[in-house]
Amino acid sequence: MAENIVHIVLARLPDAPAGTKGISLFIVPKFLPDGQGGLGARNGVSCGSIEHKMGIHGNATCVMNFDGATGFLIGPANKGLNCMFTFMNTARLGTAIQGLAHAEVALQGAATYARERLQMRALSGPKFPDQPADPIIVHPDVRRMLLTIKSFSEGNRALLYYAAQQVDIMQRSQDADAREQADKLLGFLTPIAKAFMTETGFEAANLGVQVFGGHGYIAEHGMEQNVRDSRISMLYEGTTGVQALDLLGRKVLMTQGESLRIFTKVVHKFCKANSGNRTISELVKPLAELNKEWGDLTLKIGMKAMTNREAVGAASVDYLMYSGYVTLAYFWADMARVAAEKLAAGEGDKAFYQAKLHTARFYFARILPRTRAHLEAIKAGPDVLMDLPAEDFALGY
Ligand SMILES: Cc1cc2nc3c(=O)[nH]c(=O)nc-3n(C[C@H](O)[C@H](O)[C@H](O)COP(=O)(O)OP(=O)(O)OC[C@H]3O[C@@H](n4cnc5c(N)ncnc54)[C@H](O)[C@@H]3O)c2cc1C
Repeated sequence: MAENIVHIVLARLPDAPAGTKGISLFIVPKFLPDGQGGLGARNGVSCGSIEHKMGIHGNATCVMNFDGATGFLIGPANKGLNCMFTFMNTARLGTAIQGLAHAEVALQGAATYARERLQMRALSGPKFPDQPADPIIVHPDVRRMLLTIKSFSEGNRALLYYAAQQVDIMQRSQDADAREQADKLLGFLTPIAKAFMTETGFEAANLGVQVFGGHGYIAEHGMEQNVRDSRISMLYEGTTGVQALDLLGRKVLMTQGESLRIFTKVVHKFCKANSGNRTISELVKPLAELNKEWGDLTLKIGMKAMTNREAVGAASVDYLMYSGYVTLAYFWADMARVAAEKLAAGEGDKAFYQAKLHTARFYFARILPRTRAHLEAIKAGPDVLMDLPAEDFALGY
């Protein structure tokens, strides 16, 4: 399909230092340049096989063989990992978009289906007595699933737009301080966006199947494909576990909490500005409390890590998910603020803004309490994870 294919490859130069310090980045083209701007000899790179995957069957992931291939160094020797991070940051946000897309597909499918599918009656009595049964959207549990999907889809969209805005500021602002600030903020938000949005995107895709009941399991409705396709997003471009280490280790603890403070300041300013805003006070108060708890919790993990290095790895994924839920709470509170203002002014689509307010309230009441479970898990510390000897994990079969 293309004249030439260029592979970006991590490899070692001869005599390179051991470990990640000895990795360099190369361009390996399928056809070598002929020196005149055209294509020359075939390079020693070939596709060994196509991978058989759980999902994303439209994507030809393959095994690549390099047999005496010529590569051209990108950036300094042995600095390959640093160079690769330039790609990785963009790719991580790209994968975050994938998480968002899976939640959105689940929402569009499930919300339509739940209004059409007739099954049993509402517990409080028939809502559509002229029909043989009520549509499943009358049932609280179906609404729980739909609102969970909706709150992730729209909340994650807000987070992603905010991250994209930081990219614009970082690349285009004339103000050097603003560029630096946006860079730090983006560095902090990227692992959260990548891991939290794909984890919740997968949850949403799974709920999409559940809303469809047995029909969700049947391929023609598209919901099962959405689950299969979404599963990879938590793995590639760095697993959730690796994003969590990046967030807590590199971004937060290694900056002595500076990157976290940049974001908690944004949240703090919002809470302060809206402390007297009665229409959203039920959201602002818990958000302000969580924002403070986030800083205190980070400090505690940092203190623990001074005496036990495993404390970081033991807390990391729970810390990332906790951070994701609090981050989304900020965006939901802000969306609720705008919705309340628009409704009060009689501007725009009333139903749209009312739906925002309902979903924000649902998020705070039914999703945000998940931070309590993550908090308790973090408090449990590393021993409960580390005490069981590696060879004893399979005992009990
Ligand atoms: C469909 C598909 C397409 C891909 N496309 C590309 C591509 O185009 N280019 C490319 O370069 N790669 C690609 N990959 C590779 C992909 O990026 C890796 O598979 C992924 O980053 C995970 O690395 P790994 O498989 O080595 O897992 P491992 O690193 O072996 O991880 C296994 C498990 O251990 C955990 N783990 C590992 N180290 C730690 C640690 N230090 N602390 C805590 N937990 C840890 C992980 O979180 C994970 O749960 C692709 C993979 C797939 C499946």
